[in-house]
Amino acid sequence: METQNEQNTANQVKTKFCKHCGAKIPEAAIICTACGCQVEEMKSQEQPNIVINNANTNSNVNTNQIGGMYMGRPRNKWVAFLLCFFLGYLGAHKFYEGKAGMGILYLFTVGLFGIGWFIDCISILCKANPYYVKY
Ligand SMILES: [Zn+2]
Repeated sequence: METQNEQNTANQVKTKFCKHCGAKIPEAAIICTACGCQVEEMKSQEQPNIVINNANTNSNVNTNQIGGMYMGRPRNKWVAFLLCFFLGYLGAHKFYEGKAGMGILYLFTVGLFGIGWFIDCISILCKANPYYVKY
């Protein structure tokens, strides 16, 4: 009833007629105030540009750069070989590689009775220069 009373008086408020029921409704109305039908397309709400700033893209770059073959202490092949060849029975090359436990073992067993000494001489010759002793 109120809307009909305002029909002749309130011209300030822009009105329109519902295309479903014909009721006079405010211009800005999207849903008819009388019948509840949708009379206007919902104004497309601008989706806020969600900029997903992926700051983690570079976090994994440096983690695995140290390859397996470079893990460890670099040792000169020829120093190790000479130590092994001349002082291998004392475990000198094992001490040189930082393997004190094996060095002591070689020291007391004369290079694992010569067998370890012989194998180490060959194995050191087969290594790259420098080679890397794993920690
Ligand atoms: Zn209506």
